[in-house]
Amino acid sequence: MPQLLLIEDDPGIRAALVRALTERGHGVRTSPTGMSGLQDAVDRRPDLVVLDLGLPDVDGCTVLTMLRAVSDVPVIVATARDDEREIVHALDAGADDYVVKPFAAEHLDARIRAVLRRGAGTEPSALMEVAGLRIDPRSREAVLDGQPLDLTRLEFDLLAHLAARAGTVVSKRELLADVWHQPYGGADKTVDVHLSWLRRKLGESAAEPRYLHSVRGVGVKLVAPAP
Ligand code: CA
Repeated sequence: MPQLLLIEDDPGIRAALVRALTERGHGVRTSPTGMSGLQDAVDRRPDLVVLDLGLPDVDGCTVLTMLRAVSDVPVIVATARDDEREIVHALDAGADDYVVKPFAAEHLDARIRAVLRRGAGTEPSALMEVAGLRIDPRSREAVLDGQPLDLTRLEFDLLAHLAARAGTVVSKRELLADVWHQPYGGADKTVDVHLSWLRRKLGESAAEPRYLHSVRGVGVKLVAPAP
């Protein structure tokens, strides 16, 4: 049974989610503040964290940044406002996904299952090489021109997915389905944010691409850079 940690200060939301998620087969622990949640996540290693961004003691994005310094546990953030900047900030800080309040427990449960599948579902496969880029799915290491890349789990999955299809345009819909496990589509901006961070780590940009080329209206492809 997956063990979830719910960091949420609102007692009503907390109680409702504990009930709904327990009924759906999860083990749920809760923390009412950012600092106690962080401590719990470090000490007791949950399988996934649901993190409210509006907490009384510490801003949720700060909690996420602190957590990411010590753990790569999957995190779904819950935000009270459909505020694009806040969502992008949370994704940048290492959130795997997000939900906007008010959300149905079934919706959160679907996101939780998708994120947990993503962590468990990657089959080890052969080493991939595209020019100076080497990606080893077994060790989950990526190296660019001899330098190891410091990628999040999701960035690695995205890069590995594109490298396995090098030279082929991959649509955002396919990425959402296969990397994010959201077969019925999700927010394109989720893909865009992670692509832009991956580009930055590869030392390139959408305006001056080397490996990652956007194909307008179609998707993105990974190619060997022009010499
Ligand atoms: Ca709150």
